[in-house]
Amino acid sequence: MPVALGIIGYPINHSISPIFQQAALDHIGLHAAYRASEVPPERLAGFLKTLREEKYLGINVTVPHKVAVIPYLDEMDPTATAAGAVNTILNLNGKLIGHNTDTYGFLQGLKIERRFECRDKRVLVLGAGGAARGVLQALIQERVIECVIANRTLHKAERLAATGLQMGIDCKSIGMAWEELSLAAVNADLIVNCTTIGMAHTLNEGDSPLQPQQIPPGALVYDLVYNPLVTPLIRAAARAGADTLGGIHMLVYQGAASFELWLGSEAPVEVMMQAAVNTMSGDD
Ligand code: NAP
Repeated sequence: MPVALGIIGYPINHSISPIFQQAALDHIGLHAAYRASEVPPERLAGFLKTLREEKYLGINVTVPHKVAVIPYLDEMDPTATAAGAVNTILNLNGKLIGHNTDTYGFLQGLKIERRFECRDKRVLVLGAGGAARGVLQALIQERVIECVIANRTLHKAERLAATGLQMGIDCKSIGMAWEELSLAAVNADLIVNCTTIGMAHTLNEGDSPLQPQQIPPGALVYDLVYNPLVTPLIRAAARAGADTLGGIHMLVYQGAASFELWLGSEAPVEVMMQAAVNTMSGDD
């Protein structure tokens, strides 16, 4: 019987994790299958019960279950506790342990792909949803000097900024109006898009949260949106002369960290990245 791994979400058909995780499992020659399961909220408890079976090593968890799985787990690691969300579950002999590799994946993208260190940097975070929460944790951990959180719904940005302030970083909240966004962007060393603006198959597909004239050429613009690979924001940033980083890197690095938690061996990151990029560029 093959070892079972996978990802749960609702919906789940957009996920490319099965492609690059299976490529990694095949590469190391493990008799294992990584499958996507569409689990509606009312089936979550039942699914997690079966996860305790011996054949399951663990799963990834995506929207909308990252917080909802927590009450069903036996333990949480400190990163998952800090983020208040779980994206990886490890089945340790019937005991379910929650982890969060999103923070690590976000930082690995910066460190490995761009040699960017966050310490003492000024950061503009666009968005205040689940991804922004994980990114803020990473920025706090890395001791940025200032963080501005911009969100369409202002009270969500205010709530997130309050968390940052409590954790000792200079954190401000703003709305998404042109003037205030431009003022915040001009001082930023790093701009991170944690909104869904620019994401394929959404109403804002084709839009960018910032225009080229708002982006300083010295900034690094990190778009967490990975479908498409080259987003409207990445194009706008390139036009402004800024450095850019696409969300595919975070996606693969968080997946590689999950792989290492389940299997205890080094993930073949290059194989995973190639499989992910090939799929997204339609070469697969
Ligand atoms: P989420 O919790 O639903 O948050 C969505 C955010 O986008 C909110 O801040 C929302 O603002 C904002 N937004 C949506 N439509 C908008 C619009 N038309 N104008 C302005 N703001 C808008 O989603 P999430 O889980 O944080 O994910 C956000 C993005 O990050 C997604 O594209 C996801 O694929 C990507 N992501 C990538 C990775 C990766 O590994 N690369 C990991 C996680 C997430 P309101 O609060 O005003 O609604």
